[in-house]
Amino acid sequence: MAKKILRDTSPELAEKLLGDFKAFLESKRKERLQLTDIPQFNFSFSLGDNGFDDRRATLRFTPKAYAKMYALVITYNTEVQWHGLVTRTAEREFLVEDILTFPHEVSEATVTSDQGEYNQWLDSLPDDIFNKVRLHGHSHVNMGCTPSAVDTAYQKKILNLFETPNENNDVFYIFMIVNKRGEVTSLIYDLQYNALYNTNEITISVEFEDGETLENFIKETGKKVTVPTPRPLYPLGVNSTKKTKGKAQQYSPQTSMNYMDAPARDDEEPDEWDYSPYNKWRYPRR
Ligand SMILES: [Zn+2]
Repeated sequence: MAKKILRDTSPELAEKLLGDFKAFLESKRKERLQLTDIPQFNFSFSLGDNGFDDRRATLRFTPKAYAKMYALVITYNTEVQWHGLVTRTAEREFLVEDILTFPHEVSEATVTSDQGEYNQWLDSLPDDIFNKVRLHGHSHVNMGCTPSAVDTAYQKKILNLFETPNENNDVFYIFMIVNKRGEVTSLIYDLQYNALYNTNEITISVEFEDGETLENFIKETGKKVTVPTPRPLYPLGVNSTKKTKGKAQQYSPQTSMNYMDAPARDDEEPDEWDYSPYNKWRYPRR
């Protein structure tokens, strides 16, 4: 379920809570008339709902952006990172128009940006392109796609660059981690509409020029391809059928765990980010 990022601080809620408190006091006052030995009491109140709702988001890719992203993931045997140029096309719909790469050093489990070079690259972008840089993606090679502690710290750093949402400042940012196994973790922080969409609440969609979609293509293929039923695990843990069989039947790149609830995984990469360059710029650029 989509998580509301911002707490409800409306005067209406404050008014309601005050009303609740008055009613509570009144009930206690009546009680006190009956039981005079209550010196203190505790009052608990709720700040609204549980902070989740059933909103979902669609992350659309142009074929060009989608092909570029997977070409990067497939081509490099190391980690690699990229930015996406994104436009909001509806309240809960975002379109990744293109993928940009920028100077950085890679290793099997790290991606490090040189501060100077990265800044230079950013500075070279025209304003309209710069303001569309709303997606950061990186690959996890053959590991799972759960964000590492470093990834999460980086995400917070990016989000802190944004000012409060307003009419002229549409605040959203998307993070993706993709691996060669076809697993994806995606997160959409949408401060404009108060939602954090996790992998499970995001539908990834790719539409071609003639209107056909990748989702439909895979769905149709699923009717023609027969996949063997996995055999049960044998007592000694020998599984004769690889669990990856049949995976292609569904177009469902969102197979990795919902990282907010995920326990630490031993395949978390100790990657290192140098995110100090981000400190100097803000969205939108002015
Ligand atoms: Zn990572």
